[in-house]
Amino acid sequence: MNGDGGSAQAHQFQAEVAELLNLMVHSVYSETDVFLRELISNASDALDKVRYESIAKPELMAGNEKLAIQLKPDAVAKTLTISDSGIGMDRQELIDNLGTVARSGTKAFLKGLNDAKEGLGLIGQFGVGFYAAFMVADRIEVTSRRAGAPDAWVWISSGGAGFEVAPASDEQAGRVPRGTEIVLHLKDEAAKYLQPFELERVVRTYSDHILFPIELVDDKGEARQVNAASALWQRSKSEVKPEDYTQAYRSIAMAFDEPALTLHYKVEGRQSYAVLLFVPTTPPFDLADPGRKGRVKLYVRRVYITDDADLLPAYLRFVRGVVDSEDLPLNLSREMLQNNPQVVQIRSGLATRVIGELETAATKDADTYAKIWAAFGPVMKEGLYEDQERRSQLLALARFATTNGDGLRSLKDYVAGLKPNQTEIYYLVGEGVERLKSNPKLEAARARGVEVLLLTDPIDAFWTTLPQEFDGKPLKSLSQGDVDFGLIPLLDKAEDKAGQKATAEDEQAIVTAVKESLGDKVSEVRASQRLTESASCLVASAQGRDRELERLLTRQDRGSGAKPILELNMGHDLVRALGAARTAGRPEDVSDLACLLLDQAYILDGEVPSDPSAFARRLNAFVVRGLRTGQ
Ligand code: ADP
Ligand code: MG
Repeated sequence: MNGDGGSAQAHQFQAEVAELLNLMVHSVYSETDVFLRELISNASDALDKVRYESIAKPELMAGNEKLAIQLKPDAVAKTLTISDSGIGMDRQELIDNLGTVARSGTKAFLKGLNDAKEGLGLIGQFGVGFYAAFMVADRIEVTSRRAGAPDAWVWISSGGAGFEVAPASDEQAGRVPRGTEIVLHLKDEAAKYLQPFELERVVRTYSDHILFPIELVDDKGEARQVNAASALWQRSKSEVKPEDYTQAYRSIAMAFDEPALTLHYKVEGRQSYAVLLFVPTTPPFDLADPGRKGRVKLYVRRVYITDDADLLPAYLRFVRGVVDSEDLPLNLSREMLQNNPQVVQIRSGLATRVIGELETAATKDADTYAKIWAAFGPVMKEGLYEDQERRSQLLALARFATTNGDGLRSLKDYVAGLKPNQTEIYYLVGEGVERLKSNPKLEAARARGVEVLLLTDPIDAFWTTLPQEFDGKPLKSLSQGDVDFGLIPLLDKAEDKAGQKATAEDEQAIVTAVKESLGDKVSEVRASQRLTESASCLVASAQGRDRELERLLTRQDRGSGAKPILELNMGHDLVRALGAARTAGRPEDVSDLACLLLDQAYILDGEVPSDPSAFARRLNAFVVRGLRTGQ
C-alpha cells in the first residue's frame, strides 16, 4: 500500500529547471539526438549502481538478473519508451532528482547562458541531462521502482512549471519489476525517433560503448541488441580503430569533441589493470568547479565502482577515461579508496604516464600540444604549486607569453636565449599581456634585450610564491625585491644615463624627501635599477608577497596590508625637478611631486590612485602653474 492514498500530488520545479525547460520546449535546435544519449547514460548509471549495490545485497537482483536498456518505439501511440532494470527511484528520489538540477555542469551551463539564442546552440553541445528529453517530447511519464522496494511511483510532466507524482497503477507497476521506464510522447517534429533505423544510428553514434546491452524492441516485441557493449579498454590496441576511440571517448566523457590525446595500455605484474584515458580538445564544463574533482572512472573486473576515486592529481582533472583493475576488491569503500596501497600505486602510475604522454606530445607534436596547453595550461600550472615531486617536469611542460614575440615559449627556449651574465629567469605577473608589455618594470630588461615571462593566469600569482628554477636558473619577479641588471650589457650603450644622474648625496636627499612627504603610504623609497624611461614604479619587498598576489588577496579581503616600495628613476626629469624644488626650498612642490610619482606608479600598474580626485587636482594645478610660467 502507498501512504498517500493513491492520489497524484503536484510539485513545482526548482526555478533553474523551469528556466531550462522553457528553453527546451521552445527549442528549434535541430540536433536533438543528444536527448537519447542523456537518457541512456542515466540508465547505464542506474544499472552500474544496482550491480554495485547487489554485491553486498544479492537479493536486489532476485527475480530479474538481466541488466539491460530497452528502446521501444510505438508508431501508433507516437511514444518512445526507454526502460532499464537499474537501481530505480523511490517517490522522494523522483521528486528530488527530476525536479531540481544538482549537477554543477548544468548550473554552469545555465549561468553561462546570456540569451536564449546562444543557449540553443549549447544545448546540443553540452547536453543537460534528463531535461533534454523535453526537446523532443511534450509529455513525459516516468515509472520507477527502487530495487527491493514493494511499490512503484509515476512522475508525469508536460514541462511548464511543475510535475505530478502518484503511486503507479497495478498495470504500470507490473511493467517495472525493478528500475525505470520513461515514456516520451514525441512532438510531431521529433517523429523520426519512432523509426528503428534512426534510433540505431543515434545509439551507435553516442552510446556504442555503454557496457550494458541496449536493445531495440520491434512491434512484435522482439529485442535486438544495437550497441557493441564491449569494454574497449580490454581489447588490444591493434584491434581498435581511431574512430572507435573517438566514439568511446564521447560516450565515456559525454563529450562531442575529438580527443587530443589517447592513452590506451595495460599494466601487468604485481597489479594488473587496463587504462583508457583521453585528453579532450575543448575544456569540460566542470573544469572551473571549486571541487576540482577528476572524473576518471574506476572499474573492477568490468564492474563500475566510482568516478570519485581521484585517480589523477587535481591539476590533471581534465583527463577523462577509465581504469579497470583486476585485483581490487569489488566492495571498495570510500576510506579504502583513500588508503588502499594498490589504489595509491595506480594513482602514481597514472600521473607518471599522463605526464610522460604530454611530454611526448610536446616534443613530437607541437601543434597538438599547443592546443592542449591553450585549453588546460592554467589547470596544469596548479601542479607547480602542489606537486613538488613533478614540479620541474611541469615547468618544462609550461608555455609562456614573453616579451619575445607573440608566440608562447618554453623555458628551454628561454634559457637558450639568455643574455651574457644573465643567471635568472625574469617574469612579471599581471592582468593581461598587452598591459604587462607596457609596464615600466620591463624597461631595464628591455634595454638589455632580456626576455621576460608575462604571466597572466590568476594561478600564476600563487605558484610563483614557491622557489622555482629551471635548468639551475631561479625564476625572479620584476616586481619584487631587488633586481640587479648591472652585469648584463645594454643593447645600446648610449642609453646609459648614468652621467646625467645626480650625485649620490643628492640622490639620498631626494629619496629622503619623497619618503618624508609620503609618510606611511609606502614602506620605503629607493633608487631604481628597473627603470630607464618611466619616472617611478611600485615593487614588493623581497620577503613579502609579490604585488599581483597581494592585489588578488586584497580583493578577497585577505590582504596583508603591507605597503609597497616606491622606486624612482634618478635620471628622470620629473625626479630631477623634485630635486631642484627641494634645493630651491619649495616644499609644497616637493610634496605634490612625490604624490604624483606615487599615483602614476599605481596607474602604470593598472590600479587607481588611492584618492583619484586629489590626484586630478594636483595634476591640474601643476599644468596650470606650468602654463603660466610658459606665458
Ligand atoms: P545527472 O545524470 O548528471 O545526475 P540527469 O538530469 O541526467 O543528471 O539525472 C538526474 C538524476 O536523476 C540522476 O543523477 C539520477 O539520480 C536520476 N535518474 C535519472 N534517470 C534515472 C534512471 N533511469 N534510473 C535511476 N535514476 C535516474
Ligand atoms: Mg545524466
